[in-house]
Amino acid sequence: MRGSRPESIVVIGAGEAGARAAMALREQGFAGRVTIIGDEPHAPYERPPLSKAALTDEVEPQAAFILTPERLAEHAITHRSDTRVLAIDRDAHRIELAGGERIAYDRLLLATGASARRLSIDGAGPDNVQTLRTLDEARALRTRLRPGSHLAILGGGFIGLELAAAARARGAEVTLIELAPRLLARAVPADLAAIIARRHEAEGVRLLTGTGIASIETDSTGHVVSLSTGERVVCDAILAGIGAIPETGLAERAGLAIDNGIAVDERLATNDPDIFAAGDCCSFPHALYGGRRVRLEAWRNAQDQGNAAATNLLGGSDAYEAVPWFWSDQYDITLQIAGLADEGSETVTRELGDDARLDFHLANDGRLVAASAVGPNGKIARDVRLAEMLIARRATPDRAALAAPAVKLKGLLAG
Ligand code: FAD
Ligand code: NAP
Repeated sequence: MRGSRPESIVVIGAGEAGARAAMALREQGFAGRVTIIGDEPHAPYERPPLSKAALTDEVEPQAAFILTPERLAEHAITHRSDTRVLAIDRDAHRIELAGGERIAYDRLLLATGASARRLSIDGAGPDNVQTLRTLDEARALRTRLRPGSHLAILGGGFIGLELAAAARARGAEVTLIELAPRLLARAVPADLAAIIARRHEAEGVRLLTGTGIASIETDSTGHVVSLSTGERVVCDAILAGIGAIPETGLAERAGLAIDNGIAVDERLATNDPDIFAAGDCCSFPHALYGGRRVRLEAWRNAQDQGNAAATNLLGGSDAYEAVPWFWSDQYDITLQIAGLADEGSETVTRELGDDARLDFHLANDGRLVAASAVGPNGKIARDVRLAEMLIARRATPDRAALAAPAVKLKGLLAG
């Protein structure tokens, strides 16, 4: 880098992590140039509402801005919208935009996020199989959800299930098709996923697990999804929620290390000391889990890593070790998971009443490594927050105390 203190910091990707980092640079007193470049036409906005309120509200959804144009201006953050970055010249410390313009940087943050995986089977293309990642896609999808319309959802992950709940709220029929034998197989323990599945069925969603898709046909009257079972599902719209792929192309072309995302160290630095990465696009070694390399696709992680990256872009040495946490709202229930549930070898359940339940996941040595809960938000949020604090402290709580609703988790924390 030219000089020890950066004068110009460029952020690529104007999503959750990028916007938070740009703002945190100012909050931490950085007075140099901050430029944030994104390829969407909007100022940075929140994605979580796109699969929830944006689809059920009566009015066309507006962006829930993370940073409004006014706020960007107030903090002298230059935002280049609708602009794709094509290349990074690491030797010259310059990036190249589509159109050929070049911008110099002293330090660079990659916050390029992830993009929706596309279905690669006969007859599936962007014109007839929709995805949901952006505000514009949510607006397009919302017009397809109306009483009497039939939506086929491919994938029983977060997008698929939140969309199923939104579609039912708008009176649309829903068939959800999942290849795996159960819903949410990767991120959510089986018992909790079963509670969520029952709720969807009670709301009238047709759930077909263990079912593949053979082909999709489209004509002017609608679509037919042919299943591995031989059944043909006739529908008005198709949404694929089959996962997200980290946006690593730019980093890869620049010769940065890739390992299930842009590989960074615990400071979120890549193998180039002047380039950092944060959010869905990067994988990092998690100190709480023995340095296991993880990549998280979650809102709070993107925010927290944006903050941590800002500190380290300015020469700090903050090690990122926040407890992973995410939530999902479906109907009037919330699912929350703190920590990494697959690190656990034993589960202790605490019944919270009103159909709410909290599972504690313990490692072989009795350490609490994760907590997962489902139920009305007011019933679970506080306990998950306390469990998160126990996880951060590497606590080994007593199993009987964890299982007993009468024992306050706050007390375990004090112990
Ligand atoms: P993104 O928000 O994806 O932002 C990256 C930005 O970079 C994008 O705008 C992209 O277009 C841009 N970009 C990429 N490459 C380039 C380039 N070369 N040049 C210029 N720009 C580029 N998480 C939860 O915990 N709970 C939820 O309820 C929840 N709901 C969600 C609902 C939806 C519909 C979606 C899509 C996600 C949801 N998430 C949720 C996940 C959460 O929103 C993401 O983890 C978070 O947005 C990641 O932030 P990010 O900044 O890493 O990436
Ligand atoms: P997801 O939660 O990873 O679920 C994808 C589902 O599709 C999984 O069931 C997966 O099964 C299946 N799948 C994967 N590859 C497939 C393929 N090639 N063909 C058919 N099925 C396949 O991803 P998502 O629901 O699409 O969500 C996309 C992104 O939005 C993620 O980053 C997610 O975190 C984010 N999001 C988060 C929330 C939330 O946290 N509340 C809400 C909405 C969206 P396997 O697991 O067996 O591969």
